[in-house]
Amino acid sequence: MSNLRFKVLQEAFAKKAVAVQPPAGMVSDYYGNHVFGRKQMARYLSAETYRAFCNVLDNGAPFNREIANNVAVGMKNWALDMGATHYTHWFQPLTEGTAEKHDAFIEYAGQPGSDVIEEFSGKLLAQQEADGSSFPNGGIRNTFEARGYTAWDTSSPAFMVDDTLCIPTVFVSYTGEALDYKTPLLKALHAVDCAATDVCHLFDPAVRKVYSYLGWEQEYFLVDESIYSARPDLLLTGRTLLGHESAKNQQLEDHYFGAIPARVQSFMKELEFEAYKYAIPCKTRHNEVAPNQFELAPIYNETNLAVDQNLILMSLMHKVASRHGFKVLLHEKPFAGVNGSGKHCNWSLGTDTGVGLLTPGKTPEENLRFVTFLVNVMMAVKKHNALLKASIMTATNAHRLGAQEAPPSIISVFLGSQLSAVLDQLEIADKEIVLDEKRRMQLGVAHIPEVLVDNTDRNRTSPFAFTGNRFEFRAVGSSANCGCAMIALNTAVASQLREFRQEVDTRMAAGEQKEHAIFEVLREYIRESKAIRFDGNGYSDEWRQEAQRRGLDCESSVPLIYDAYTSPSSVQMFEATGVMNRTELAARNEVKWDTYIKKVQIEARVLGDIVLNHIIPVATRYQSTLLDNVYKMRQVYDIDKARTLSAHDDSLIEELSTHIASIKQNVDNMVEARKQANHIANERERAIAYHDTVLPYFDPIRYHVDKLELIVDDELWPLPKYREILFSH
Ligand code: ADP
Ligand code: MG
Repeated sequence: MSNLRFKVLQEAFAKKAVAVQPPAGMVSDYYGNHVFGRKQMARYLSAETYRAFCNVLDNGAPFNREIANNVAVGMKNWALDMGATHYTHWFQPLTEGTAEKHDAFIEYAGQPGSDVIEEFSGKLLAQQEADGSSFPNGGIRNTFEARGYTAWDTSSPAFMVDDTLCIPTVFVSYTGEALDYKTPLLKALHAVDCAATDVCHLFDPAVRKVYSYLGWEQEYFLVDESIYSARPDLLLTGRTLLGHESAKNQQLEDHYFGAIPARVQSFMKELEFEAYKYAIPCKTRHNEVAPNQFELAPIYNETNLAVDQNLILMSLMHKVASRHGFKVLLHEKPFAGVNGSGKHCNWSLGTDTGVGLLTPGKTPEENLRFVTFLVNVMMAVKKHNALLKASIMTATNAHRLGAQEAPPSIISVFLGSQLSAVLDQLEIADKEIVLDEKRRMQLGVAHIPEVLVDNTDRNRTSPFAFTGNRFEFRAVGSSANCGCAMIALNTAVASQLREFRQEVDTRMAAGEQKEHAIFEVLREYIRESKAIRFDGNGYSDEWRQEAQRRGLDCESSVPLIYDAYTSPSSVQMFEATGVMNRTELAARNEVKWDTYIKKVQIEARVLGDIVLNHIIPVATRYQSTLLDNVYKMRQVYDIDKARTLSAHDDSLIEELSTHIASIKQNVDNMVEARKQANHIANERERAIAYHDTVLPYFDPIRYHVDKLELIVDDELWPLPKYREILFSH
């Protein structure tokens, strides 16, 4: 049979699990081996350099050229011992993913033409010019001066990939604007550290630093590589643009926590071994809700490191998958009708003294601190709910949000009934704060630990849920650089905490007692942030109406959602915290609109292509077979008998014609809409046109093609079907 589909199916089903050899020793033996961490530094740096560099990392001591040079030599020697020939400044441009340009270590030992030696200096380690004209920059740099530079992020360790030493860096323009995610993320983390430390000082003067923590959960689909190669839509867009639902998909819920198939198990094992080498502490792996969908989650880490690790992991996934004959789909919605993939971001703040600021305490003082941080986070989410949504919004994640299976396109906070009750009680408490003989507050805050232990009524429909000692930002997309969401969240919280501290200070300066001042401000916040609290079903229509009444952002058009980045409150927040300025924000939106346009444009082209070159020819071929059949019947039988016998074929022929005609019409209209849209010069307007006038053709085209899939002879159908893609491991 010549049909490619059958060939790839045979290939897929013949594949067996690949045997995986674990590295020698226990995980703790090889954990972090591919990273230039403390263990490696202690071995490759002089005692003096090691101490000086640790002082830079731990205490923010000044960093000079001499330390850089010495670290560079040690790092180079480690990398050479690991088999490195090249090094690269590894950075995070505004496209999702990472970028790198490899340079060999070799330099002429003497005159040009002499022998070479391996060389690496502090200068090369610390800063590199990046020909950045090929990276999106939102017009910040004109191409004639398309120079940006990358600068070493000392807080994230260098690591080895194959023969290359990768040095985590920020990417900025020569005029200083950020062209990546890491630059504003580091600034946001600094801002939240300062603001939260100031607030901690109301409770404990010993706190010197507050860390932002992130624990991401990476969801993904695995698809057999051969089958994948026969689907141009998966190949070019990462999702299926067509395909009728399988008779069985996830309705039995038999995949979730079910046994992991052998081939997949091998893949996961190897992925974990690899991840451990990069000091990514993978903790859980399991099947997800949809068939062929899985999840991997490490133990949480400091946010900057966690983001880098997620990016390293995503690229490891692709590499390891190919050794097992799989393709990893990180797209948020690769298949219609089954769950999409997210990257839940578990987020919290913790002090250098080891206190989780979102963990309820044992004493009333500890709980006042807990409530302080909890309520301030809620205020931040309330004030900036439109921005937080913009921070997770992409052309691909849009297919997931607002559907009946993923966080809705309205950002709300789930607290659970018990914690809500505690806040309600605080809100209505008497004006006077009662203090007992030990000056303890009598507001029932002390009872929080018990009620939170059993926080099991987790609301799966909430995009931002409190889960006992952290918030879980669930709206983040599986393919995203989660740094983007972390920039918005940490900046919003930083800005809010600054305001809180100022308000408390003002009250204290006016003679109010400290606890009283804190309570009064919190009470106002509890009232003001009430609109963001929602424990009900986030997917319901009633909620949409209710959210609108509450003044929450309900915008669902991606290009318009991005406007939140340049709203007065966002600009004020980003500028006051020093995270980004107006120019950077505007430039980023240009990039976002541009990316949106390109994604929809590519999908529209691929859809048109597949339909015209694969689907319609097959449908017409089948139609001719049927016509042939009808014609022959008429030759053999009398007219009445022939008519009876060919009734079924006749109606199929008609159905086919109708669907083919509708498809052609819709594709023509879509192409026309694209042409019109392409004439619009303004990026924002063009993105809106793509959203409003091009995208709407996708569904009707798909509808008719999926109908054809049900009618046309299975032997002719060219594209692997959903059941074949989803149940083929
Ligand atoms: P779930 O029930 O959502 O699957 P998991 O137990 O898989 O939860 O944990 C999800 C992530 O949350 C993990 O990465 C975990 O380390 C992380 N996490 C746990 N506590 C915190 C915290 N205090 N701050 C940030 N992340 C945390
Ligand atoms: Mg979770």
